[in-house]
Amino acid sequence: MLRPLLADLAALFFPRPCLACREPLVAGEAHLCTGCRAELPYTDYHLLPPAENPLARRFWGKLPVQHTLSYLRFIRHGRTQHLLHQLKYQGQSQIGQALGQLYGAELADAGLAPEFEVIVPVPLHRRKLARRGYNQAEAFATGLATALACPSAAQALRRTEHTASQTRKGRAARWENVATVFEVAEPQAVLGHHVLLVDDVLTTGATLEACGAALLAAGARAVSIATIAC
Ligand SMILES: [Zn+2]
Repeated sequence: MLRPLLADLAALFFPRPCLACREPLVAGEAHLCTGCRAELPYTDYHLLPPAENPLARRFWGKLPVQHTLSYLRFIRHGRTQHLLHQLKYQGQSQIGQALGQLYGAELADAGLAPEFEVIVPVPLHRRKLARRGYNQAEAFATGLATALACPSAAQALRRTEHTASQTRKGRAARWENVATVFEVAEPQAVLGHHVLLVDDVLTTGATLEACGAALLAAGARAVSIATIAC
């Protein structure tokens, strides 16, 4: 009784800004204002048959992907860009969790929740993690995991440096491309599971492709992809 009252009072004197447009939130709004909730550029790809999903084409012939999902369209100078900028450069990791919860609720409404057995974020490079203090993909994964009631395994994948010892590891635990190397650090977390692999943005898809291939090589049953924006 008292706690909601105090929260209301705090919101009255220190209104929290909308994470997308910075306008003060009003009672009943969390993270995003009603206007932004209505007007964000949602892709709604999860409502399309997989064959009609334009994002799925990025992986055709490269990686078998069950569902290729992205919450928002990236539009230069738009709300999505503002959200991502705050998430990545302003220390606002809660944006990732909030977006994960909102998107996860929509995916659950569409009946997709039972499909995924574990959620795995793309790992951040060690130096970037040290600088930022958190992995924005992991924040998104945490929100998705809550809304989808699905476990997440934040440490299942890791980035590795090119070293001589890499070449001695089995093909099953290793995948390389020119730019990055990923390996499955916790094979038991993905073995036999349909993995929902998540990142903040899907651009060329090369990183997600490398991670997905590593997961499949380590024994994942299937891979789906979800990003905040594309
Ligand atoms: Zn707003």
